[in-house]
Amino acid sequence: MIADKILDELRLIVGATGVKTSEILSLIHPGSDERNLDAGVMVVPRNTGEVASVLRLCNEHRIAVVPHGGRTGLVGGGVSAVGEIILSLAALNKIESLSADGGTATVGSGVTLQSLQEAAEKVNLATGIDIAARGSATIGGMISTNAGGMEAFRHGVMRHRVLGLEVVLPDGRIMTDMAQVTKSNEGYDLKQLFIGAEGTLAIITRAVIRLAPADEFTATALVACPSATDAITLFRKLQRSLDLLRAEFMVRDYFVLASANLGPASLAAFTEAPAYLILEIDAADQPTAQSDLEEALAEAIEEGLVVDAILAQSEKERTEIWNIREDSSVVDRVHPNGYWFDISVPLQGLETWLTQFNEGIAALGSDVRGFAFGHLGDGNLHVGVAGAPDKDAAKAIVYANLRELGGSFSAEHGIGLDKRADLHAFVDPVKLALMHSIKAVLDPNGIMNPGKVL
Ligand SMILES: Cc1cc2nc3c(=O)[nH]c(=O)nc-3n(C[C@H](O)[C@H](O)[C@H](O)COP(=O)(O)OP(=O)(O)OC[C@H]3O[C@@H](n4cnc5c(N)ncnc54)[C@H](O)[C@@H]3O)c2cc1C
Repeated sequence: MIADKILDELRLIVGATGVKTSEILSLIHPGSDERNLDAGVMVVPRNTGEVASVLRLCNEHRIAVVPHGGRTGLVGGGVSAVGEIILSLAALNKIESLSADGGTATVGSGVTLQSLQEAAEKVNLATGIDIAARGSATIGGMISTNAGGMEAFRHGVMRHRVLGLEVVLPDGRIMTDMAQVTKSNEGYDLKQLFIGAEGTLAIITRAVIRLAPADEFTATALVACPSATDAITLFRKLQRSLDLLRAEFMVRDYFVLASANLGPASLAAFTEAPAYLILEIDAADQPTAQSDLEEALAEAIEEGLVVDAILAQSEKERTEIWNIREDSSVVDRVHPNGYWFDISVPLQGLETWLTQFNEGIAALGSDVRGFAFGHLGDGNLHVGVAGAPDKDAAKAIVYANLRELGGSFSAEHGIGLDKRADLHAFVDPVKLALMHSIKAVLDPNGIMNPGKVL
C-alpha cells in the first residue's frame, strides 16, 4: 500500500485530480491486460517538471513506478501491483509543433498515434508508422516498445522515426536531446537506450518524430498465392515496379477462420490457398493506382504467383479487406485460451519455418490449430496456437530453429513480463549482463517498472 502521506505529497505535485484511486480508477479501462491497474494508484502529471518531481519522490522512498501510455501493450509491460504507482503519461498529449518543411513533429509522449496521423495529414505528411491500436497507443508507449507495424519495411520501426527525445531519469534529472535532424553525431546516441526499454530505465516525456510523405491515392487488393515463396516473389516484384505501401501476410487457416467469421460473404467465399496477401500501393492519382495494381496482379496471375485476386472498388470494400487482417482477435473469440507469439523470420527462411510449423501442429494432434499472419516485408509473424496441451508445447513448435534461421523470438511487442524467460533462454549472456549493468547505473534503486524485461 502507498502511505497516505505519500499520496498527499503526490497531490501537491500533480494536483488533487491528478492522483486517481479506488472508484475513480475503477472507471478507467485496464487496456490489453486485466492486471494493469492492480496497483490501485494512478498518478497523472501534466508536464515534464511534474514527472521529474514524482520520480524524485518515488526514488527517495523506493516506490516502484509503472509507466502507462495507452495500455495497448501485449506483453504485460504495464502490469502493476499493490505498493507500486502507475504513472500515466496521458496528459502529456500536446502536439507542440509540426513542420511541413522540416518533416518533423515535436510531441508530448501521451499523444496518440492517431492524433499525430491526423495532424500530419493536414500538411500532406504521414507518421511513417501505423498499427491497428492507433486510436489508443501513444507515441511514448510506441517508443518504449519500439513498435513496428505495417509500414516497417518502408520506413523502419519506431527507432528509425525518432530524431529527438526528452526523458526523465529515476532520480528526477531530465535528459534533453531534442534534435530535429537526421544527422547528429554528438557522442554516444543515448536516446537509443530508452527506445524499446519498456519503461525500465526512464520516463519518455517528449519526442521529435520524423514524418514521411503522405500516401494520397491508394489501391488495395486481397490476393491468394500458391505458396509463401510466391507471395515473397510477388512482394519483391511489386516493390521494384510500384510504390508498395503495405504487404500483410496470412496463412490459409487464419484467412479461412477470419473471413468466415468477419465476412462479408464475398470474402468468405474467396478462393482457398496456402498464402494470402493484402497489398496496398500508392500512385499519382486514384485511377492510376487502381489500374497499376490491376495490371500488376493480372501479370502475377499469368506468371503463376497469384491464383485469385480481389481489388477493392470502394472505401467500404477496402475496410472489409483490412478488417480480416486487423481484427485478429477473432481467433481468440473462436478458440479461447490459445497461445500467441510475435516472431521474425527472415524471408529466405519463411517457407522452411511454415513447413515445420504446419508439421509440428499436425504432430500435436488433430484438435490443435495454428494461425499465422503478419507483416510480410520484415518477416514479422504473429502466431497463434490453439488446443496445444500447454504453452511450452506450442513454444517448442514456434521457436524451433528460429535462431538457426536468423530470426527473433521477440519481433515488435517487446519482452515485458511475459517473455522474460525467453529473453534469458535466447539472448547472448554477455548482452544480458550488459543490460543488467546499464539498468544498475541508470536505476540503482530498481524503481523503474521492476520485473519487466530483466
Ligand atoms: C490491436 C493491437 C494492435 C497492435 N499492433 C501492433 C503492431 O502492428 N506493431 C507493434 O509493434 N505493436 C502492436 N501492438 C502492441 C504495441 O506494443 C502497442 O500498441 C504500443 O506500442 C504501445 O503503446 P501504448 O501507449 O499503449 O503503451 P502501453 O501499453 O501503455 O505501454 C507499453 C510499455 O511501454 C511503457 N511505457 C508506456 N509509456 C511510456 C513512457 N512515456 N515512458 C516510458 N515507458 C513507457 C510501459 O510501461 C509498457 O512497458 C498492438 C496492440 C494492439 C492492442
